[in-house]
Amino acid sequence: MISPVLPSYARAPLSFAEGEGPWLKTETGERYLDMGAGIAVTALGHAHPRLVAALEGQARRLWHTSNLYQVPNQTRLAEMLVDNTFADTVFFTNSGTEAMECAVKMARKYFHAVGQPERNRMITFGGSFHGRTLGMISAARSEKLTDGFGPLLDGFDHVAFGDHDGLHAAVTPETAAIIIEPVIGEGGIKPVPPQCLRGLRALCDEHGLLLILDEIQCGMGRTGKLFAHEWAGITPDIMAVAKGIGGGFPLGACLATERAAQGMTAGTHGSTYGGNPLACAVGAEVLSVMLEDGFLDRVSQISGRLRQGLEGLVASHPTVFDHVRGEGLMLGLVCKAPNTDVINQGYEAHILTIPAAENVVRILPPLNLTDAEVDEAINRLNTAAQALAAAL
Ligand SMILES: *Cc1c(COP(=O)(O)O)cnc(C)c1O
Repeated sequence: MISPVLPSYARAPLSFAEGEGPWLKTETGERYLDMGAGIAVTALGHAHPRLVAALEGQARRLWHTSNLYQVPNQTRLAEMLVDNTFADTVFFTNSGTEAMECAVKMARKYFHAVGQPERNRMITFGGSFHGRTLGMISAARSEKLTDGFGPLLDGFDHVAFGDHDGLHAAVTPETAAIIIEPVIGEGGIKPVPPQCLRGLRALCDEHGLLLILDEIQCGMGRTGKLFAHEWAGITPDIMAVAKGIGGGFPLGACLATERAAQGMTAGTHGSTYGGNPLACAVGAEVLSVMLEDGFLDRVSQISGRLRQGLEGLVASHPTVFDHVRGEGLMLGLVCKAPNTDVINQGYEAHILTIPAAENVVRILPPLNLTDAEVDEAINRLNTAAQALAAAL
């Protein structure tokens, strides 16, 4: 008999009742070190006192009014994002995939507005992930996402990751935009080299295309800059953000330049919940914490320690691991043993990690991890790897 919850997830036999910082506790009080942060979402850890206060404070005053009216928290968060990024304007959503949908709609609308409606196709890359709406599975097009869900949405042209010639060949008079994750997440923690991001920007400028970045996983401080593209010294025209921005409260955002957003006039797009007062109260607090002096420097520092620890782990367990890749606190252990075995052994050692494509174990801890917590994570991963190596 089908379970009351649609069985569309392969869930681990674990559930949690409480969290604090990077720790999760089961109903019976067993503690697990959470190095996945709910897939890069709880970027400030669980139950961060300032986020709890922001949510509770707003919860007592007002939950929802809709976008028929001004939403002061939404305006405040938009101003903060505009002040600290390339963007001039922001549309708020409840999830990442909706932020990407907005990005794609905005790019098409831009070319409509400037009198080039034939430019409505977007180039996307193999191994990408942009969410689960029909539009975004059509954009990413991996078999795993699309099988059985056809017909897919037209308008996306696919290029293999790293295929420079294929990319240039894919640009046609109908191309509107290029869509890429600066660090591929689900696809196996693969950073796009800074010179390639600069090359993409130059290609877009040369052909009058919009550059759309999906920073849903790699943004919001995860690489040690507020957004990953900052390392390459470029700016996009449109960018999707979600996951970390809500710290665990559902929130996404589509950021854009004034030029790219010019078609999005009143009535063209909307969302009932998007930019809700509760979500934006939390989002503004998350961003305030991340913008404090030293926060992002500390992310870089702690990520150095974590990476060093993981390199040591790989060296100690050459039958289990191959190498480490990624940026900042978005790291991948490329495995030799099946990644799911590593993750399951991690559960035995009470540490949570996340699988990704290409046999990768993802390490996406909260950004405010301490040195001692990093060392504890390495110890637990070492315990897991030892048990696995012994069984191989
Ligand atoms: C998680 C993710 C999405 C989808 O976000 P949802 O909130 O699950 O809709 C899109 N793109 C990237 C890069 C992601 O990591």
